[in-house]
Amino acid sequence: MSAQIIDGKAIAEQIRIRVTQEAKALGITPGLAVVIVGENPASQVYVRNKVKQTEEAGFISFEHRLPEDTPEAELLKIVEQLNDNSEVHGILVQLPLPDHIDPDLVIRTIDPAKDVDGFHPINAGKLAVGQDSLMPCTPQGSIILAKSVHPDLTGLNAVVLGRSNIVGKPVAQLLIQESATVTIAHSKTRDLDEVCARADLLIAAVGRAELVKKHWIKPGATVIDVGINRVSAEAGKTRLVGDVAFEEAKEVAGAITPVPGGVGPMTIACLLANTLKAACWAAGKPAPRF
Ligand code: NAD
Repeated sequence: MSAQIIDGKAIAEQIRIRVTQEAKALGITPGLAVVIVGENPASQVYVRNKVKQTEEAGFISFEHRLPEDTPEAELLKIVEQLNDNSEVHGILVQLPLPDHIDPDLVIRTIDPAKDVDGFHPINAGKLAVGQDSLMPCTPQGSIILAKSVHPDLTGLNAVVLGRSNIVGKPVAQLLIQESATVTIAHSKTRDLDEVCARADLLIAAVGRAELVKKHWIKPGATVIDVGINRVSAEAGKTRLVGDVAFEEAKEVAGAITPVPGGVGPMTIACLLANTLKAACWAAGKPAPRF
């Protein structure tokens, strides 16, 4: 039996439409500032898509494209100016940053109320103690996709593969809030395949092309593949694959996200939802939930 393919593109589009409608209905025009330093090709693509979808949602987009050799102090000054600009409700500094810039310092400089990536320690702390906060976008998107299959995650055995601050840890926090039973596996986990094979819900975020094989998946499990890995293809070309060996995994999983077209589109949709949330809070209005 072949798995249900979870259509992240369609679900993300529904969220973007709702974000646009809710902003209009509330009479709010959210502003999102995106700052990129250097010429990293993948980052350039992400930022272009973010700006395009921000404008399509009727938000104001502020774009800062800085050269690779921008001094750290100059970047911090721009972040501070954006903190002070009342038209800007969300600030996103695209990672990775060049080696001479400390990403933690940059993240700590963003006003937590405008930290739409949800990476500031204040927001990470609020997530850990279960307070409403700006939550990281990719983890939020992953949970929405999981809930499209299991509206109630209570009691499910969830295994999160990966423990990064950007994906693995926040995904695990969100799953705990959903009352799932959560295991976090990582590069030092023993018998990784067996740990994964106990999961009703497996969320893979390791950045290792097609690491998760068919026998790692419990028959009927839901698999959310966060990984984005570029690998060589025929005729000198490249293609994107996830952390899960999709073709064989879909033979055993109950539901699975494809790469591309799964978690990827959800990240920008959740970024727009976070920006609307920040704008609502700035206006003293309750924010819609997604
Ligand atoms: P990271 O490198 O910061 O963390 C990877 C984690 O995987 C680490 O915790 C490490 O312990 C674990 N790991 C590495 N190798 C392993 C192995 N062989 N076995 C078990 N665990 C292992 O990466 P990240 O930032 O969390 O990103 C993970 C993946 O998700 C990447 O492919 C990245 O491109 C992708 N990603 C996608 C989106 C999106 O929008 N869809 C957003 C962020 C990250």
